[in-house]
Amino acid sequence: MEIKSNGIVLRSIDYNESDRLLTLFTAEKGKLTVGIKGVRKKGARLAFASQPFCFAEYVLVQKGDKYTVKTAYLYDGFYPLRTDIARYYAASAALTTAYALLGEEEKADGVFVALVQALKGLAYGEGDPAEPLVEFLLYALQSSGYGINLDGCGYCDEDLGDKPYFDFSGGCFCHESCSDGVRASLSTYHFLRKCSGLDYKEHEIEGGGRRAVKLIKTFLATRLDFNATCLEDFLRLYEG
Ligand SMILES: [Zn+2]
Repeated sequence: MEIKSNGIVLRSIDYNESDRLLTLFTAEKGKLTVGIKGVRKKGARLAFASQPFCFAEYVLVQKGDKYTVKTAYLYDGFYPLRTDIARYYAASAALTTAYALLGEEEKADGVFVALVQALKGLAYGEGDPAEPLVEFLLYALQSSGYGINLDGCGYCDEDLGDKPYFDFSGGCFCHESCSDGVRASLSTYHFLRKCSGLDYKEHEIEGGGRRAVKLIKTFLATRLDFNATCLEDFLRLYEG
């Protein structure tokens, strides 16, 4: 059976003499493991389709539960990512997190669109690279049932005041007196709100990018047991 699907390569590993095994995130079928043959031979026509970040229409042949790439038509390889190491690591972190959060063959078309947006923003945008990354992470977490509540205190619904705390098990900001949280900063809160499309205070946001990425990293470790070292790699190079 032949299937056509838009896909993004999340992971690519070598196998056999000249083949690769891809983890493809497809719009129609979620995360799929697919084989692609002969792509490590010199001049292979489909070599592009086996590279991480490749966004293409894939034509897959399905035999039982195995998929092989028959051909692919490139939409975007997000090439400029290779020329800016911080943006490259941010994009890698988006792929790795998508890989960790997505279920095998579980449709997630919203996350798919969000990932394409993030890669576009990172490859072609000129603003703060933490923004497209955090936008994607928040969206992907929300879609996986681990949304972060950004609406004041998660317990009493009141304004956070100027000493917010973050409750990792509740996935929300809170007052010190409302729950067990760790001290967080208003810049993190406002940066996260900005990346969720909510109104935010521009003058409170300075330094929020770095703190927001750190908070999400801890959140992923606490709630999903996922050690996102890719986010640390990004922060080492991030100048925000
Ligand atoms: Zn409260």
